[in-house]
Amino acid sequence: MSENLYERLASGFPEDRSAACFIFADGSEASYAALEAGVSRAAGLMIAKGVEPGDRVALQAEKSPEAVMIYLAALKCGAVFLPLNPAYTAAEVAYFRTDAEPKLFITDAQGFLAEAEGAQPLARPIPRTASDLAAIIYTSGTTGRSKGAMLSHGNLAANAVALHEIWGFSRADVLLHALPIFHVHGLFVAMHCAFLSGCPMIWLPKFSDAEVLAALPKATVMMGVPTFYTRLLANPAFTREAAGHMRLFISGSAPLLTSTFSEFERRTGLRILERYGMSEAVIITSNPLDGERIAGSVGYPLPGVELRIAGDAPSTASRSPSPVSGGGTGVIQIRGPSVFAGYWRNPAKTAEEFTADGWFVTGDVARRDIDGRVWISGRAKDLIISGGYNVYPKEIELVIDELPGVAESAVIGVPHPDFGEGVVAVVIGEGEEAALIAAARRQLAPYKAPKRVVFVDDLPRNAMGKVQKNQLRERFRDLFAG
Ligand code: AMP
Repeated sequence: MSENLYERLASGFPEDRSAACFIFADGSEASYAALEAGVSRAAGLMIAKGVEPGDRVALQAEKSPEAVMIYLAALKCGAVFLPLNPAYTAAEVAYFRTDAEPKLFITDAQGFLAEAEGAQPLARPIPRTASDLAAIIYTSGTTGRSKGAMLSHGNLAANAVALHEIWGFSRADVLLHALPIFHVHGLFVAMHCAFLSGCPMIWLPKFSDAEVLAALPKATVMMGVPTFYTRLLANPAFTREAAGHMRLFISGSAPLLTSTFSEFERRTGLRILERYGMSEAVIITSNPLDGERIAGSVGYPLPGVELRIAGDAPSTASRSPSPVSGGGTGVIQIRGPSVFAGYWRNPAKTAEEFTADGWFVTGDVARRDIDGRVWISGRAKDLIISGGYNVYPKEIELVIDELPGVAESAVIGVPHPDFGEGVVAVVIGEGEEAALIAAARRQLAPYKAPKRVVFVDDLPRNAMGKVQKNQLRERFRDLFAG
């Protein structure tokens, strides 16, 4: 039997294909029939352009129904989908193109679908096995070089089916979709739940508190990053009544502050359901739908996911895979059907991140309580998450170190009231803060560029000469306060 993920997702589409798939802010709709027809034509055009099973199809475009059609068409014709953030600069994109060697690189989703009008539609999905690749998701590495996480049809199907089940999705739902679709959260987690239940999505090109507030009375579920929730809470119109039609608010991609969780409950009477995941395994743990959702905990491993806490020092995690017993803190390791196949063309990195006995080392530091709930306390590798996006300090440091007047830099994330964490460059050297920020912005996507640059005489180091970022984070923790 074919395990093509598109076939699996389409099995959830409503029998009446005239039902809405996308509901836009102006109230207009696009049906599941339109989605399906667009997917078949786009898949036909991909094949006409020589795309064969296993070939990569890259898309760097703004969020749109056409972009979704291209994603699903890539699955349908057996290609490997490669989504890219539209904010990436040419230099960043050049790297992905060289590394992934896409057969097609699409930047104009509407133009592609228009061209597909003339293509012979692909009626049946190309058969795939569970282990065939469905997508490559690039996650920047701490070394500054991006790694492509290879996700298979089986990985994505297993996760989608589990989430659809545990979050209680049904045809009666209306999913409020305000996330970007170049990242696993908006692309896989949110959309797959909607497709498997055949429910409509209220389709917002990006998050805006005003548009979300206007849509809430028609929605039942929203998925968001913590920033969505802090922004909603900052709007006085976000009240118990405004959220009254919603059955579920889900948060992930970055830690949800306990204060946000509590304020949200006070304001709406609802508890945000926090879950934890990553590109390499999609969703790993979730708070329960029925049962207590606890602030600060990311809940329990998903059905089928095995999770253990290993080692007690993050830096030695991969070398000491022995599980910690009795509620100790260590690095989360996982095994299960959604865990990715490895990094694209990078067997050395893949080998580094899996233990000898086959567990994936997530790099996230956590403990499990007596009930089995997981509590994340930090990130082993100093990853910064700003507005829900990952920023890898090393990549930013490499750019800043090249700027005139800079001798050395250390990039850290410190608490930011809006973004969760704000990117700060601590620099040895001389120059103007504004000029350095402007220069960095010319080479980096806006979310990666530092929001502040501070000049210091020296960086704190340990005996091995390694910069002590925890000390810097402590020293500058109030930079964005107030
Ligand atoms: P990405 O691969 O872009 O999805 O980023 C994955 C990383 O985001 C994880 O390894 C965690 O460090 C972090 N993350 C995701 N969800 C949560 C959460 N609920 N709480 C804390 N950290 C999270």
